[in-house]
Amino acid sequence: THILLTGATGFIGAHILDALLAHTSANIRVAVRSPHKGTALLAARASHAARLSTVTIPDFASPELDLTPALAGGIDGVIHAASPVTYDITDNEAELIQPAIRGVEAILKAAAAAGSVKRMVLTSSFAAVLDINRTSGTYTAADWNPITYAEGVADSPVEAYRASKKFAELAAWEFAESGKAGFDLVTIAPPMVFGPVVHPVGGVAELNDSAAVLWRAAEGREPRPVARVAFWVDVRDLAVAHVQALLRPEAGGKRFLVASPERFNYALVAKIVSEEFEFARARVVEGSLVPDQTKDIDGETAARELGISYRRLRESVVDLVAQISKKQEEG
Ligand code: NDP
Repeated sequence: THILLTGATGFIGAHILDALLAHTSANIRVAVRSPHKGTALLAARASHAARLSTVTIPDFASPELDLTPALAGGIDGVIHAASPVTYDITDNEAELIQPAIRGVEAILKAAAAAGSVKRMVLTSSFAAVLDINRTSGTYTAADWNPITYAEGVADSPVEAYRASKKFAELAAWEFAESGKAGFDLVTIAPPMVFGPVVHPVGGVAELNDSAAVLWRAAEGREPRPVARVAFWVDVRDLAVAHVQALLRPEAGGKRFLVASPERFNYALVAKIVSEEFEFARARVVEGSLVPDQTKDIDGETAARELGISYRRLRESVVDLVAQISKKQEEG
């Protein structure tokens, strides 16, 4: 079996790579836009060298975007986790929304043209599900963010990111349901993702967004970040969900919310850190330790149908904070 994985140089994608190595015997081709990161990623997994290769792909914003070469030679399954995750932008449409959609469209087109692909798993997001005006009830995989494309273009970068994930996922479903694909699609929608880092990161300044925000809370920096939603999942559980979504025939055509039944806010994160780490021991954590309970999320369907179980918040927080504080001590 041959799997193509995008986004492996990122926080979630690197964990998906490790879960593929642990749970399958597949050969894995990693598609990277930054070859030096691809080299570092593979060097850290030298014992699996025989199963791993890289292919360089253009940036999704590039006018010559064509992913056909990455799919050549008999790829059976694809996991597409790459998408821009940044709020440090000046042009919502050019820097977030269009690259997200174009990346998805290019990989679908290339996979359909290749003719060998049987299943594609797409990393979507709870951002594609969330309704900011909702006040109660349980989010399920049937929910879609009501944001319009025009709002995504005109609003804040946070809204632009949400629109990028919604319209990229919609493009994927549209293509998959058009009959042009020749493979089936599974989408995975996680909320905030926490846990340790296994991708090449030089230092705290290079952390991915969700880990960087958690680290700010862990350090006790003011103002403490505010959780936009109280839902989260550990990156290792999320990675296994992707692999199971690729392997299980009955998952085909489904959309899964992958989220822990526990709730979080950053005061709770800071409290866990003060209890577990010497450097934060004397810290007094102010603010409510009770996360928002007004809305619920159905992460249980994914747990059942993909056969995963969810880690606790404490483990997720401790594993990331231990790793970063060690890195900092080492300089
Ligand atoms: P990272 O920023 O750590 O990783 C993003 C990955 O996508 C990297 O491999 C990056 O490549 C690649 N990428 C980004 N922009 C482009 C582009 N324009 N062209 C080509 N490749 C690109 O983010 P995460 O690992 O956190 O996110 C991975 C996926 O998970 C995304 O689809 C994201 O939307 C989704 N997600 C993340 C959540 C979170 O809390 N972290 C929550 C919900 C969904 P490079 O290494 O070269 O920069």
